[in-house]
Amino acid sequence: MGITVKILVTGGAGYIGSHVVKALGEKGYDVVVYDNLSYGHEWAVLYGKLIKGDLSDSELLSVVFKSERFDAVMHFAAFVVVDESVREPIKYYRNNFVNTLNLIEACIKYNVKRFIFSSSAAVYGIPEKIPVTEDAPLLPVNPYGSSKAMVEQVLKDITVSSDFRYVSLRYFNVAGADPLSRIGQYRADATHLITVSLRTALGKRDHLDIFGTDYDTPDGTCIRDYIHVDDLSDAHILALEYLSSEGRSVIYNCGYGYGYSVREVVEKVKKVTGVDFPVRPVGRRIGDPPALIANSSRLKQELGWKPKYNDLEYIIKTALEWEKKVSRLN
Ligand code: UDP
Repeated sequence: MGITVKILVTGGAGYIGSHVVKALGEKGYDVVVYDNLSYGHEWAVLYGKLIKGDLSDSELLSVVFKSERFDAVMHFAAFVVVDESVREPIKYYRNNFVNTLNLIEACIKYNVKRFIFSSSAAVYGIPEKIPVTEDAPLLPVNPYGSSKAMVEQVLKDITVSSDFRYVSLRYFNVAGADPLSRIGQYRADATHLITVSLRTALGKRDHLDIFGTDYDTPDGTCIRDYIHVDDLSDAHILALEYLSSEGRSVIYNCGYGYGYSVREVVEKVKKVTGVDFPVRPVGRRIGDPPALIANSSRLKQELGWKPKYNDLEYIIKTALEWEKKVSRLN
């Protein structure tokens, strides 16, 4: 481990945050999770301590920063549903942008100079070239993507006049669960394709809607680059080690560089579960780019990222085991 030891993880009780907390804990880092538990869960925090709080609460943030003295911050707490962001943009700008300003302000005030930001492929909008590289223009097509791009701009501006340093990780489509099924995505109102498909296969929903079959893609459905949540967690650990060794601020795409269409994902879920569930093609979902595939060469070359679970079937299997466990509990 590098010199960084005590890490604040906002949103560490949520889906991605909790997997990163697991990875941090396994590496021996001292973790403090700050989460308002709006979508997070106490049981999902496998390591460290949980503080229940909201990022709009600058006073509580001050108290926490003053007493804990963090070496670095990892910021996951955010809303993540693209079409909801189209319907409720202010909700997204307030939580994903304004509240992030509070957090960054606390970092500056309490001299925390290392920051890892959960950004998104949504900052690219509809990229001209695919796979997309980090230097592609940021032209988000929904408020979710805009809120992430706005934070990236703030982070960039801060580094001009201070020694604050950050790594921004642009996630593509994060999926799968802890292989031991201790944690996973847990939202009754989940909207993500793999989760919704699995719940349909398990009989929790009566059919799956395919949002748009007339895109300019080989089978007419949208293409995405699905990355296992534990490979993404590894990227965070590498980013942290990198910042600890005084690395400069940098942005990395996090994906496997391979895209699957919605229909291909559905077929794979049917194969893995052995259930031929009903699928209904419907109109396009607002705010959806036709194709998003990462070029993650920079992450591999500069940080030595070596994905371990680059296999859609494995991703779906881990998510299936998790969904089965959740349905046994409910
Ligand atoms: N999708 C779909 N039916 C669903 C959920 C998602 O057809 O019930 C499509 C969605 O339109 C998109 C892709 O699956 O093209 C991935 O969507 P998801 O919500 O999983 O992630 P996003 O790319 O929006 O972050």
